[in-house]
Amino acid sequence: MHEMSIALAVVGQVEDAALAAGATAVRTVRLRVGELAGVVPDSLQFCFELACSGTVLEGARLETESVAGRARCAPCGDQWPVGMPPDLCCPACGTPAAELLAGRELLIAGVRWDDPPAPAAAGRVHRPHLEER
Ligand SMILES: [Zn+2]
Repeated sequence: MHEMSIALAVVGQVEDAALAAGATAVRTVRLRVGELAGVVPDSLQFCFELACSGTVLEGARLETESVAGRARCAPCGDQWPVGMPPDLCCPACGTPAAELLAGRELLIAGVRWDDPPAPAAAGRVHRPHLEER
């Protein structure tokens, strides 16, 4: 399942970043999804929830931002939205070899998480962990 592997990859990357920052919980993950990336949003949503389960992302919300596909014609420089199914023939000169400028991306645009508790509020006694030697 395509969406499941994407969801697992996204969750893995966010989890690494969140844990490195000491985050206690991830609230929102924003993902930019190109319209030509071949991702079914509902399916991705479902897989995302499954992938989050048992991680620091548990309960996080996935917000997807759709990116329209755009192509450019090398000979004449014309640019156009390719639409779906994609039309890769230049509408100006008819050249079929378009260069895809956007629409295949799949990237994490933003993550919101809870920061670790502020380090030792004034006057508060530091209690050592049991593991501390
Ligand atoms: Zn052209």
